[in-house]
Amino acid sequence: MAVPRNKKHENFSEWFEQVTLHTMVYDYRFPVKGCGVWPGYGFKLRKNVLDVMRRLLDESGHEECLFPTLIPQSLLGKEAEHIRSFEGEVFWVTRGGFTELGERLALRPTSETAIMPMLKLWIKDYKDLPVKLYQVVSVFRCETKATHPMIRVREVTTFKEGHSAHATYEDAESHVWSMVELYKRFFDELCIPYLISRRPDWDKFAGAVYSIAFDTVMPDGRALQIGTVHHLGQNFSKAFDVKYLKPDGSHEYVWTTSYGISERVVAALISIHGDDHGLVLPPNVAPIQVVVIPIPYKGREAEVYGEARRAYGELKAAGFRVVIDDRQDATPGSKFYEWELKGVPIRVEIGPRDVERGTVTLVRRDCLTRTACPWGELVNYVKQLAERITVDLREAAWRYLKERTFRVRSLEEVAELVKARRGIVEVPWCGRGECGLTLEEGLEAKILGTAVEPVMVEGRCVNCDREATKLLRTAKTY
Ligand code: ZN
Repeated sequence: MAVPRNKKHENFSEWFEQVTLHTMVYDYRFPVKGCGVWPGYGFKLRKNVLDVMRRLLDESGHEECLFPTLIPQSLLGKEAEHIRSFEGEVFWVTRGGFTELGERLALRPTSETAIMPMLKLWIKDYKDLPVKLYQVVSVFRCETKATHPMIRVREVTTFKEGHSAHATYEDAESHVWSMVELYKRFFDELCIPYLISRRPDWDKFAGAVYSIAFDTVMPDGRALQIGTVHHLGQNFSKAFDVKYLKPDGSHEYVWTTSYGISERVVAALISIHGDDHGLVLPPNVAPIQVVVIPIPYKGREAEVYGEARRAYGELKAAGFRVVIDDRQDATPGSKFYEWELKGVPIRVEIGPRDVERGTVTLVRRDCLTRTACPWGELVNYVKQLAERITVDLREAAWRYLKERTFRVRSLEEVAELVKARRGIVEVPWCGRGECGLTLEEGLEAKILGTAVEPVMVEGRCVNCDREATKLLRTAKTY
């Protein structure tokens, strides 16, 4: 299990691949380009992350559904903008066994075009609205750019896509913002910091009226898009003829939205919190929250193991995801190393001195500090420590994002920061698309869009020197 310690900030890609592989979170050695495997430990982490999302969506009146993976070419092509954007990266099924199919079938790149024909069947009148549903599925995109484990893959295995239909533009609009709020709560629970931007028109989701996106900054200074929410207007409902009967007897096309997250959230979680010792996981999603490690001493083995089992039993009864590592063929030191690598938030050590004093020792994974805890207080202490760790992880992560967000006023400054991959850079912008596109090309970076929260805009457009009306965000991305 010995893995050389990797420096996260020196060689992030190497760190990410090594840590996810050696902790059995993710194995990217599968022989299809852009496809990764979730072994048991990673699958549990992914499941715990998804459970947070499922709870939030279920509480907000969504229903989980499951639509087919295959979408006929005729449906995928119905919304013109949509197909134009995706057709370069769609995987097509053209044959069944030895027989050419009558119509090509796409492996879904996203599901708007699978869901709309069903909404047409399900929605009759205004009483059927709104519809709010989601599914968690694989989507497929034949990425032509360099792929990257969990971040830029050809099979996105953890696509949580939400879809809604509403009676009016305003209802859809207010749903967009309530989903932005829901995603904020989701990322807050995972202690992942974010900036929320309105994507520029030239980079919105294909078929959307507008797109709102969440970005975070990874340890290598690149921005990572971790969530999006789109107002789709009537673009899809018109293409698919999805109408509803209004109370006055007339018909109107429904207004739709869609919103998604993927395993990039897990990638961000691992990358932002992890350190040179390995994973650091927030307690609410850690597959194992507490590990109990007895530290036997000659002649006192029975007592130490007994007390360790007692601690394990108490924590388990209190509902923690806890394991006891009482292997006798491994040293305590090698056990510490292994569980630190796996990112278990709290370690309970019990040695002969603890037995004498009637205490146990708690060690935090995030900062490796130790606390002595009296027996009888164990469950309380662990509970409080888990909360403390969550708060501290969130604060540290937000501090990091703030340090990696820059506001400058000149082209030279933004060019230098972007080139050095320092993070997300905000600059004054006149709001004209041509200036944005010129910047994108000149900086060889992505324009993330404009801040959705109200901000003070001062200065002149870094490209054309006209008076600035907006703050434009840019960064290197994956
Ligand atoms: Zn300009």
